[in-house]
Amino acid sequence: MSDLKKRIFEHIQQNGPITVDHYLSMALYDPKDGYYFKEGIIGRDGDFITSPEITQIFGELIAIFIIDQWSSIDSNYDLHIIECGPGRGTLTHDILNTLKQYNAVYERTHIHLVEISPYLKEVQQEKLKDYQNIQWYTSLEAVPHCSGYTFILANEFFDALPIKQYSGHSHQKKERMIFINDHGNLSFSTPDNNHIHETCPAYKIIMDNINLRLQSAPGSVLIIDYGDEAKNRTINTLQAIQDHKLAHVFDAPGEVDISHQVNFKTLRDLTDSSMLCYPLITQGDFLKQLGIDLRLQQLLPGASAEQRMQLLSACARLTSPQHMGEIFKVFYATSRCSE
Ligand code: SAH
Repeated sequence: MSDLKKRIFEHIQQNGPITVDHYLSMALYDPKDGYYFKEGIIGRDGDFITSPEITQIFGELIAIFIIDQWSSIDSNYDLHIIECGPGRGTLTHDILNTLKQYNAVYERTHIHLVEISPYLKEVQQEKLKDYQNIQWYTSLEAVPHCSGYTFILANEFFDALPIKQYSGHSHQKKERMIFINDHGNLSFSTPDNNHIHETCPAYKIIMDNINLRLQSAPGSVLIIDYGDEAKNRTINTLQAIQDHKLAHVFDAPGEVDISHQVNFKTLRDLTDSSMLCYPLITQGDFLKQLGIDLRLQQLLPGASAEQRMQLLSACARLTSPQHMGEIFKVFYATSRCSE
């Protein structure tokens, strides 16, 4: 048994059953052995792969979208990009690489990276060492108020946040707990994975902060993640992944990625009514609207046969309904404030 699993057991033995979010906080964020503090979790050689890691086109299209949104408000503003959970820094890298081609934009750009993991912060620092004006913070609240246009970005960030689960029907909801069963294993207080209602306390903290920023300065928030509007969703959506394969949430806390399907309806409900929320769309539709097919056609003629295969398969992976095109959704909201 790993040291972290032992400590989780001891905690339960001493204090009684723990809530699901408590378990997830220990498994993901334990400063010594938590999953996000581990090396090499994201990418082909890690446990899971994200859109920016699949192709640079993802970041390039988002860069063009940011420039379009910023310049439609007022390109005299400085551009502040806040990325929550930057992983290996690839998305910000590809955005900056694109912005650098427009010197007037690049010179006015400030990057704020919100990263809880000291290890990933180092990976990001190395990846972004050729770019200027980048600051790191461990929480969104720590990012100073930005005067100028603020673009807040979160790709596969919300799914990582610890959730609470409740079981039963609306009039008799009970919080789902984790205890040690008679066989000496971790177990849920309610084994039935149906009739589960999930909430995520961190959504509110983060959305309140985003609301505050976008009430007082012009800007937007772009959230891309797996999930849906969760109308009447009553199932357990927790998923553990290790080495690109499904695992069990209790098997190896600290060694497996545990995430949940994002509830975009809650995110929308938490967005301040002064903001303009666009309808939720699929990642496939979003990337097509931003011109992924056109960008592919630009790149293909100059590519080798092997690169052509890679580009085609990467774009299909991001947009096709069988892969990430449909399960991943895009939430976008803008402030109505123009000064
Ligand atoms: N956006 C990246 C990585 C997604 S993985 C990509 O698309 O490749 C989730 C990222 O969020 C990791 O960088 C992780 O360390 C960070 N993270 C998770 N929970 C966090 C929290 N509560 N506060 C700040 N960063 C967090």
